[in-house]
Amino acid sequence: MIDLHCHSRCSDGDLLPAELIDFAHNQGVTMIALTDHDTIAGLGQARAQAKKYNMTFINGVELSVQWRKHCLHILGLNIQQTDSLKGLLDRQREQRELRAKRICDNLLKAGISDLYNESKNIANGAIITRPHIAKALVAKGIVKDIAMAFKRFLTRGKAGYVSTEWCLLSNALKEIKKASGVAVLAHPLRYKLTMTKLKELIEVFKDAGGDALEVISGLSTQSEIEKLAVLCKKYDLLASKGSDFHSQAYQRSVMGKLPLLPDNCVGVWQHFNFDY
Ligand code: AMP
Ligand code: MN
Ligand code: MN
Ligand code: MN
Repeated sequence: MIDLHCHSRCSDGDLLPAELIDFAHNQGVTMIALTDHDTIAGLGQARAQAKKYNMTFINGVELSVQWRKHCLHILGLNIQQTDSLKGLLDRQREQRELRAKRICDNLLKAGISDLYNESKNIANGAIITRPHIAKALVAKGIVKDIAMAFKRFLTRGKAGYVSTEWCLLSNALKEIKKASGVAVLAHPLRYKLTMTKLKELIEVFKDAGGDALEVISGLSTQSEIEKLAVLCKKYDLLASKGSDFHSQAYQRSVMGKLPLLPDNCVGVWQHFNFDY
């Protein structure tokens, strides 16, 4: 079983990188990529643990990028940990820090106590993400769960939403290529784009060096999988799959239980070279 998209406590997942690998192994995963949001901090620990199980480990990262007015997620798979990539990740981390402060300032103005320190404590050194702030809102008893925190405070148009200066799509793709990685457009159907806009995005993505679409993600339905398989074929792109696992409590899909790629798709893993 292959799973090329999951998160550890180095970003917004609940398990330590080594615990994530233990869990994946128990679920029958034999090839895994750790793809934390804008950080590669967990790769060393995860790789060492995967080695114990003879599991194929792929270095990964999930970059938040800007394309027009949209924030998109691009997976860099089989990347080398170059200084240039680390520079990009440092800038993303700074933006996430600034954003967390601005979100908490806005929540303060909306009458909620200052959650910045609480959120930082919850993140405990990890790169800060909205789920950490959502957990602080739950801990304060302001909302009953994380989903409600997003719904009431953290999504576009709500008091705690702020726009963020993510790196540009073209720049992210350039850095992934420079790091000898494969670039995957993560969960393409989650951006609420019309089919015309999505095709436009895929053309831009492909022209800028993009390699693959994530055809199977989390709880994809069969019709979503088929739709994305058609787009892979049309644009001559490879196909990826991953659970987008974050935690056992809130998992969107069961790790180790992803469907097979449609027959006409070429798996992105067929293009990994393992010379590092
Ligand atoms: P960030 O990258 O800091 O903006 O956080 C985005 C992350 O928040 C996503 O990767 C998801 O893990 C999580 N997320 C986004 N929307 C929701 C939601 N409605 N409910 C729960 N978690 C969410
Ligand atoms: Mn996440
Ligand atoms: Mn994502
Ligand atoms: Mn993800």
